[in-house]
Amino acid sequence: MEPEKEIIFRSKLPDIYIPKHLPLHSYCFENISDFSERPCLIDGATGEVHTYAEVELTSRKVASALHQLGINKGDVIMILLPNSAEFVYSFFGASYLGAISTMANPFFTAAEIIKQAKASSAKIIITQSAHVPKVRDFASDNSVKIVCIDSAPEGCLHYSELISGDETKLPEVEISSDDVVALPYSSGTTGLPKGVMLTHKGLVTSVAQQVDGENPNLWIHKEDVLICVLPLFHIYSLNSILLCGLRAGAAILIMQKFDIVPFLQLIEKYKVTIGPFVPPIVLTIANNEELVDKYDLSSIRTVMSGAAPLGKELEDTVRMKFPNAKLGQGYGMTEAGPVLAMCLAFAKEPFDIKSGACGTVVRNAEMKIIDPETGASLPKNQRGEICIRGDQIMKGYLNDPEATKSTIDSEGWLHTGDIGYIDDDDELTIVDRLKELIKYKGFQVAPAELEALLLTHPDISDAAVVPMKDEAAGEVPVAFVVKSADSSITEDDIKKFIHKQVVFYKRINRVFFIDAIPKSPSGKILRKDLRAMLAAGVPN
Ligand code: AMP
Repeated sequence: MEPEKEIIFRSKLPDIYIPKHLPLHSYCFENISDFSERPCLIDGATGEVHTYAEVELTSRKVASALHQLGINKGDVIMILLPNSAEFVYSFFGASYLGAISTMANPFFTAAEIIKQAKASSAKIIITQSAHVPKVRDFASDNSVKIVCIDSAPEGCLHYSELISGDETKLPEVEISSDDVVALPYSSGTTGLPKGVMLTHKGLVTSVAQQVDGENPNLWIHKEDVLICVLPLFHIYSLNSILLCGLRAGAAILIMQKFDIVPFLQLIEKYKVTIGPFVPPIVLTIANNEELVDKYDLSSIRTVMSGAAPLGKELEDTVRMKFPNAKLGQGYGMTEAGPVLAMCLAFAKEPFDIKSGACGTVVRNAEMKIIDPETGASLPKNQRGEICIRGDQIMKGYLNDPEATKSTIDSEGWLHTGDIGYIDDDDELTIVDRLKELIKYKGFQVAPAELEALLLTHPDISDAAVVPMKDEAAGEVPVAFVVKSADSSITEDDIKKFIHKQVVFYKRINRVFFIDAIPKSPSGKILRKDLRAMLAAGVPN
């Protein structure tokens, strides 16, 4: 029998040349002679401006100092920082050395940070003094150095020592395009968070797909001011704001956290032109009409939402708030590098934006939609699992060939665990998530991580965690719990037990007691059944 022909979808735009041989730092700073004295990073809180020339030079100084501290090619540094210039210097400093940055949320608990630091074999942790108590013992037991950007508590180095590195002593390092440069953590389609190996080639390709080539600067121009309020420790912000912004020569306005008033003030003050957001920010804008109307936001020409679903109604409401702007969606997944699709309203020849859809597959990549049961590729307008192939996807999970094999198949297709379809206009719409992942305001919550913690409680004999819809957060984690015999444990006890062990967005929102967790004959939790129970109405 003839093998069935695969149905492959490609971008509406032609492929482009991508300089995949360049290391990420060389690629990002390749054109800076055209804009070396222009603002590169602007600190929203202090107003401090760092030009392109400064950012490039300081990154090389930091690289040299990291090398003096013992960091070599292939070593891992952990960046445990909020958005800041130091985040950027550290990331590029590691890149110059052929070293790898693993980024983590500074608000993680000690246990969460240490798990990632251990799994990635981080040799240095760059952080703020407030977070030192969480890592001090681990660092001293494992000869890990701590560098603080705000002060130097006992046993820690001050970041000024990195900034004053001697760039003339930067070693010559041979970097291959397949070397890993970034190691974000993601649970992917199943299980616990894993290190996602993103290479120089992968990130160069992903950035080029967004801002290079025939349709130059698909969504960012040299004159643009991008507001960077999304955390750089997440790949969406790191790639689509920082790396794309630098490649394009735009100014990046850094905010450490989202607060509506300073956010609106900064947009007005710096005449921000591009707002890369997540749905909860879009929702806050929609819900604060009176406040929003007090500010002049007319400078905004592009609003991009990604990282989680944005409903069609909300998209339409916010569009009216930014009459001069194009508002569209992008679709990303850490393992995919991360961008799989984005709306093309910003191309030279704009295509219509379809509310609720997230654009077409990026250039120089292939997408297919498969039947999750049979693996057969499906034609337009049929729902199935979204798969992507191209140089931008991850090299694999760190030290986890099994998980890699079940995510990237033998033909190089990355299986996303998301369900969607491609319509007659080649637009991708995401309709469901097949995988376990829960997204709280765009942040990842891995059910397996919470289930493992729940099962350590002596009064819990079995547990399963699934997402529940929530207006503000998109989704929140809720637990179905089977009590141990004779236990009188309450919902509150369980919530408190988890609360102290995890970062705020992984906290369990509701607990439902049941007699047994529904499972398949092979023992897999039937999450679909639990989700259906929630959809039918919150159980008592
Ligand atoms: P992360 O790896 O944290 O970026 O999470 C990736 C997941 O977020 C995807 O696999 C989707 O489930 C979800 N996601 C990202 N962008 C969108 C979008 N525009 N619409 C719906 N879901 C999205």
